[in-house]
Amino acid sequence: MEKQMTESTMVAIAKSLAELADFQNQKFSIVLHGGEPLLIGAKKLDFLLSLLRDSLNEEYPISIQTNGILITSEILDICSKNRTSVAVSIDGYKEINDRFRIGHNNKGTFDQVVKGIDILKSHSDHEFLNAGLLAVIDPSSDAEKIYSFFKELEAPSVDFLYKDGNHTILPLGKATVNSTEYGEWMTKLLNVYLNDKNPLPIRILDDMLKVLLGGTVSKEGMGITDYGIAIIDTNGVIMKNDTLKSSFDGADKFKKPINIKDGKLLDFIASKEFNEYRQMQRPSSEKCLDCPILDICGGGMILHRWKDGAQFNNPSVYCSDQQLLVENMSQLISKFYQVNA
Ligand code: SF4
Repeated sequence: MEKQMTESTMVAIAKSLAELADFQNQKFSIVLHGGEPLLIGAKKLDFLLSLLRDSLNEEYPISIQTNGILITSEILDICSKNRTSVAVSIDGYKEINDRFRIGHNNKGTFDQVVKGIDILKSHSDHEFLNAGLLAVIDPSSDAEKIYSFFKELEAPSVDFLYKDGNHTILPLGKATVNSTEYGEWMTKLLNVYLNDKNPLPIRILDDMLKVLLGGTVSKEGMGITDYGIAIIDTNGVIMKNDTLKSSFDGADKFKKPINIKDGKLLDFIASKEFNEYRQMQRPSSEKCLDCPILDICGGGMILHRWKDGAQFNNPSVYCSDQQLLVENMSQLISKFYQVNA
């Protein structure tokens, strides 16, 4: 497997995505992620982004999800020129971020990441470029302190992710399937958020509130709209969402994968196997199908449903957490309407 994508693979991707855009009415977005996508270097990044932007107009968002360490003014100029936004992964204040985000020198990456964020914030095109932060929740952290820290960073928005894990290998920080450490943490965050008169937008909470109030969102692991993610690996092979790897070895692979260089992307996405993969997004467990908050929770992310034996036919391992969060969210909204009626 190539560590980095070759130019011929990049050309094939741009060509195939242009064909896809011509073929389907539905817009799609492209995210460069890793590993660390900025390891590709400025020259290759410019080559790739120029190809993609020449093939797809700005109605197709292109973004980079980076650990922030390799952000430079030169990289940002390239992103600006090619209308590509940059989101940075950071889990919170130093003690929390450096618990799991460790660099090659075996030291926490916090100082380098914050330096990268500062460069991003000070770029002349920062309003377009700065796509916000992505944090993986550590339920042992102080939710209020995490929120205040992200506000101090002046991020335009932040999104939070539940940790990888499933019914067989519980997520770190979750004592049992029925315990609610993450739901309690999210509820604390929700309270701080709703009590802030000048809040920092939190995408996961905004999306849940939107659905709770009757709207829809199209996002992995939320709501019941169909949503699909295809990964193109560095060697050009099309893969399933790489988060599935945490379920079992090979869970992210198609049985009959194609390489983007074969020029058959349209045939592949019309194939039975790809369709079955997309359908996995829809929850199948009886508990989810009967659940009063299915339209908000959507049965969670696919990887969180895995259990050895029953496979993906389960509610999310975060089911209790989601129920607690939505219950608290509903109560807070009811109180708000009562006060403002
Ligand atoms: S809260 Fe639980 S049962 Fe309800 S949709 Fe989510 S995972 Fe399924």
